[in-house]
Amino acid sequence: MKRDEVFEFFRRLAEANPSPTTELESTNPYTLLVAVVLSAQATDASVNLAMRPVFARITRPKQMLALGEERLREAIKTIGLFNTKAKNVIALSQTLIERFGGEVPRTREELQSLPGVGRKTANVVLNTAFGEETFAVDTHVFRVCNRTGLAPGKTVDEVEAKLDRLVPQPFRRDAHHWLILHGRYTCKARLPECWRCPVVDLCRYKPKTPPPEERVKPSAARTGSRGKSATRTAKVQTASRRTANRSRSRPIRLP
Ligand code: SF4
Repeated sequence: MKRDEVFEFFRRLAEANPSPTTELESTNPYTLLVAVVLSAQATDASVNLAMRPVFARITRPKQMLALGEERLREAIKTIGLFNTKAKNVIALSQTLIERFGGEVPRTREELQSLPGVGRKTANVVLNTAFGEETFAVDTHVFRVCNRTGLAPGKTVDEVEAKLDRLVPQPFRRDAHHWLILHGRYTCKARLPECWRCPVVDLCRYKPKTPPPEERVKPSAARTGSRGKSATRTAKVQTASRRTANRSRSRPIRLP
């Protein structure tokens, strides 16, 4: 995508949603860090649901250690990979106390040195908690960047590097939120909702999805072709049943 198109792409997403932010609920950098660690391969909604009562009481690493791994595991058992995640949250809380005075560090290197914290998590925390212009590439961002031709790449690192090169001011700070929300609610994985997409004319994705009223309903399409074959199958089954019944009722000839 050309630079002026990239500008227009974000201008329109910004117009539709001027103040985007993460949907993960948190009260400070520590609770945000914990929520992001828990959100790997899980939905934000499931993390919010599990952590709302926990974060109502626990907002500091020391309090998390007092809660303990077992009770944390019980609280997050509805979230995927909860065993490993509970271990990581306790270990990272311990590390924050031992090495960073109980505070969340502000550099990528320090963040990534924490248990369970990878590049994407560090990017989200740097961006959302500390206002840095970082580009966290999750599954939605990766899909949108490749589908649209905005920043195509084979790996998340490649996409991130392209976004870093391409995204202009004043969109750099919120770009990754716009892309996540666009991927989550419009440019969906299975069926992108192109008919109501604000960047439809800029997007390179060719098989654009038409509006629902212009699409052939899958059930109707199935009835057309499979209906006949289902009737055929039923006839064959009835005929075989008759034959089977006839042969069962035939008298056995004795030698
Ligand atoms: S036009 Fe369709 S494929 Fe392209 S960004 Fe919009 S929803 Fe996604």
